[in-house]
Amino acid sequence: MDGCDELRNVELSLRIYTHAACLAHDTGPGHPERPQRLGAVVEALRDGLPDLDWHEAPRATRGQLLRVHAAALLAAVLESGADAPIPLDPDTVLSPASPEAALRAAGAGIAAVDAVMNGQAGTAFCAVRPPGHHATGGEAMGFCLFNNIAVAAAHALDRHGLARVAIADFDVHHGNGTQAIFEHEPRVMYFSSHQYPLYPGTGARQERGIGNIVNAPLPPGAGSRTFREAWRERLLPELDAFAPQLLFVSAGFDAHWRDPLAQMQLDAEDFGWLTGELHALAARHAAGRIVSMLEGGYDLQALREGSLAHVRVLIDS
Ligand SMILES: [Zn+2]
Repeated sequence: MDGCDELRNVELSLRIYTHAACLAHDTGPGHPERPQRLGAVVEALRDGLPDLDWHEAPRATRGQLLRVHAAALLAAVLESGADAPIPLDPDTVLSPASPEAALRAAGAGIAAVDAVMNGQAGTAFCAVRPPGHHATGGEAMGFCLFNNIAVAAAHALDRHGLARVAIADFDVHHGNGTQAIFEHEPRVMYFSSHQYPLYPGTGARQERGIGNIVNAPLPPGAGSRTFREAWRERLLPELDAFAPQLLFVSAGFDAHWRDPLAQMQLDAEDFGWLTGELHALAARHAAGRIVSMLEGGYDLQALREGSLAHVRVLIDS
């Protein structure tokens, strides 16, 4: 390694966590939450940002999962002994490779939290599947087995003793699971923009938890201007006032105009813009610490462009 590479590595304090097991989670033919999604993200990051610092995601432990999930859900996901795909709900399928994928996806967030809290990285992006933000404490749903971001946030509270962590969720669907897990937890604030009405049906403005939930429901067809206004005027001011010590991002790219499951009209620049706002906010309150996790996004080109725009901004410190 020459001096130039060393300098570059110091500047690039972003870590990417992923695992091959996340590609093996098989949802069956025709399912939108397919392995090619993660393949597209990994390929776009490798091609577009060749110097990234890749790390293999460890498995989450049982104790780490039990901070937010019921033992019955762990048993349903991990001890199914599935030979054939087993539906957990009409959209959420378990294959033989799914338990390992679920453990690695949740474990990525745990490792990312440890890395940014221990100063080994400034920011981290977890390129994983299955996604997580619909999974509640007791239920796998909406393509999600474990709630990866909630498991990571609970780890930040318990293991690192943080008093204020925030989760910003720009997936086009409302993160009902994340909201349900933390709606009585004063150390966590949850912020979401999402198309409404849309699956899963939650996310109305009046859902405030104990004052720690801030929802910005947006109409089908909403584009860049409406999305940015919602963040600028409603979500970011409250997020700034909360002054989180660590900022989590539920990064779904299904509000992109190309996405087949929703009708919002964003493009990659909008994801980059919001990431920049979040990055500046984290710099003010959280020493720049951000842990971002891939959630949804069902068009491969939108995933490529969106994840690249997002991660590009997370690198700049
Ligand atoms: Zn989504």
